[in-house]
Amino acid sequence: MAYDRIYNFSAGPSMLPLEVLESARDNLLNFEGCGMSVMEMSHRSKVFDNIIVQAEAQMRKVMNIPDNYKVLFMQGGASLQFAMIPMNLMTKNGKADYVLTGNFSSKAAEEAAKYGKVNIAASTKDEKFCRIPQQNELKLDPEADYVHICFNNTIYGSCWNYIPDTGDVPLVADMSSCIMSRPIDVSKFGMIYAGAQKNVAPAGLTIVIIREDLLGNHLPFTPALCDYTLAAKNGSMYNTPPCWSIYICKLVMDWLLSIGGLEVMEQRNLEKAKLLYDYLDSSDFYTAGISPESRSIMNVRFNTPNEDLDAKFVKESAADGMSNLKAHRSTGGLRASIYNCMPYEGVEHLVEFMKKFEAENK
Ligand SMILES: *Cc1c(COP(=O)(O)O)cnc(C)c1O
Repeated sequence: MAYDRIYNFSAGPSMLPLEVLESARDNLLNFEGCGMSVMEMSHRSKVFDNIIVQAEAQMRKVMNIPDNYKVLFMQGGASLQFAMIPMNLMTKNGKADYVLTGNFSSKAAEEAAKYGKVNIAASTKDEKFCRIPQQNELKLDPEADYVHICFNNTIYGSCWNYIPDTGDVPLVADMSSCIMSRPIDVSKFGMIYAGAQKNVAPAGLTIVIIREDLLGNHLPFTPALCDYTLAAKNGSMYNTPPCWSIYICKLVMDWLLSIGGLEVMEQRNLEKAKLLYDYLDSSDFYTAGISPESRSIMNVRFNTPNEDLDAKFVKESAADGMSNLKAHRSTGGLRASIYNCMPYEGVEHLVEFMKKFEAENK
């Protein structure tokens, strides 16, 4: 690859489009002739105002976000949302439904329990989170203030392949590791949120997309910086926003539109995932971690026959120009995160390496 870059399979932060990095580099010292870097300019300046306005407008185009939804640029990562969601939304009946499908959904439920009553509507923990529950397994409470799910489970490598029907109860989804990987009907959700560092921008920015009628009900002690309503009123600039991440986000939105939007992105992602899963399923050396109907096209988890070979795989793949193929400590084994910006050639390179490794270690 250009500039001696390697194929980075990190679960996050992860690869960005080369065109975006080149554009940021070219404008690093003097942004579009304004005489300073985006890193140095006032967030109240006209130049930055144009950047944040365009970042939102382009994101609305990319995701086809309806007009009755606010787009908020927040901080604190997806993890702070685990607390902000109950503070802002668990406020009518003081209870919410959580579906446990992995580490992050479990953390979200634990955090929410500090603010109200959490009902575990379903959990696949007993099956080591190897699949997503089906609609008829969800024990939903019609009086819940919302239903929370983690749409793509980064650590386990599973993904919801359907949008659950929650009736009139708003559906809240953590899409940190799958946002903008394919078209999604935003109107089916009360709120979508995502840490930006997987598919959208560098770390430091969190995207919140929320239906307007859900605003204005926060708990009285909610910190100002955790209040969606205040963020919306102030155009995400109640205080200094993560300017640099918002700027890169804008460039990534431009890039997504330039390649043909999320329909094209989805095709590319499906082709990459198919190449890898087809090989895993054809091999009796590697085992895929997730049941076929619940597989993520972003995070692909697999194992060799034993832990020693997993460790050898990590070491030898690093020597062959690939990084971060070791899975999270809570699952062990291997994981390839193949987000939007991982090129098809990167997955081809991985599969070629896997074939060679299998032949040498069988
Ligand atoms: C990465 C990730 C998180 C944590 O994000 P932070 O921005 O580090 O807080 C939460 N949920 C999911 C699904 C993730 O992939």
